[in-house]
Amino acid sequence: MDSLHWSVNKDVDNLKGYPQIREAARLLQSNQVVAFPTETVYGLGANALSDDAVAKIYEAKGRPSDNPLIVHIAELQQLEELVDSIPAHAHLLMKEFWPGPLTLIFPKKAGVVSEKVTAGLDTIAVRMPDHPVALALISAARLPIAAPSANRSGKPSPTTARHVATDLDGRVAGILDGGPTGVGLESTVVDCTGEVPIILRPGGISMEDIEKVIGNVLAGPLSPNQMEIPKSPGMKYKHYAPVAPLYLLDGEPSWIQSMIDQKRRDGLKVGIMSTTENTHYYNADLVLECGSRMDLQSVAHHLYEVLRKFDEVPLDCIFSEVFPDSGIGAAIMNRLDKAAGHHWIRQKD
Ligand code: AMP
Ligand code: MG
Repeated sequence: MDSLHWSVNKDVDNLKGYPQIREAARLLQSNQVVAFPTETVYGLGANALSDDAVAKIYEAKGRPSDNPLIVHIAELQQLEELVDSIPAHAHLLMKEFWPGPLTLIFPKKAGVVSEKVTAGLDTIAVRMPDHPVALALISAARLPIAAPSANRSGKPSPTTARHVATDLDGRVAGILDGGPTGVGLESTVVDCTGEVPIILRPGGISMEDIEKVIGNVLAGPLSPNQMEIPKSPGMKYKHYAPVAPLYLLDGEPSWIQSMIDQKRRDGLKVGIMSTTENTHYYNADLVLECGSRMDLQSVAHHLYEVLRKFDEVPLDCIFSEVFPDSGIGAAIMNRLDKAAGHHWIRQKD
């Protein structure tokens, strides 16, 4: 199929009336899939009410069908149609963080969204994105929109329309370009169905931010092996990986450089993902900066773009610095750890 490409300025008034948005919304209404920008990453949207439409998401991405999707809404009214009840903690979190990069898990109302959205679970993940183009598209379509990230399964999530096109051109009905995304990492996923809310995936809203609003919250599950049935099935799959194997190097820049030298002496081509502060330490086949240690939001914003850039040069391995595991750092480390297939090398080892 030929994918349609539209471009839209996210800062204009009355986006909903723009022909690009109207055409994209019509495609969603006819059960086609359309990629669109959000404040986290680009999403690949389809009518959450239709089996046929949702099947096209899994097909375009090559996504395993036991990994459920987040349903995106533009108005609170839409939530009532999707969920059985709204737990008290969810009310507080929605009030504080919606629209925004926070996905909440609710008990689902039976028989509304396609079973393919929830992959057999009796819960449903819902989010209201904080992006004018996403909100205009969802309200123009007048549908709840199921949307995972708009990448081929396993690849880093797309933060520009160009990334989407690299992965999905010809596999989707349309790609709506609204400029680069903001946060750069996916939403935080919080399960509110139990007594104490659980962060299933760290993301754009930090654990510390959530604690300020609802007090006690659990961080977990830590790894898929610790769960018999993964609470959030997406946790068990390889994610965000560049082509060359990635290793996380926990140590001083001078030690990291000695690791690079060792590999290069063996004739291997080595890439290093560096922070701005440390770039001058490194001599490698490819040195890419991912942002500043003093501003971890900038690292989140650039992370996927940089992981994708490593694929443009033939490399035998990629090393990355590591980050503190708090605030947005927890989300950065969660993605990096997965991208590296949990491969760490520690200076003191
Ligand atoms: P993605 O849209 O690719 O960023 O991934 C969505 C994430 O939300 C995955 O980790 C899913 O496993 C998770 N998710 C979606 N629906 C549910 C649900 N009902 N319960 C728990 N996790 C979910
Ligand atoms: Mg994804």
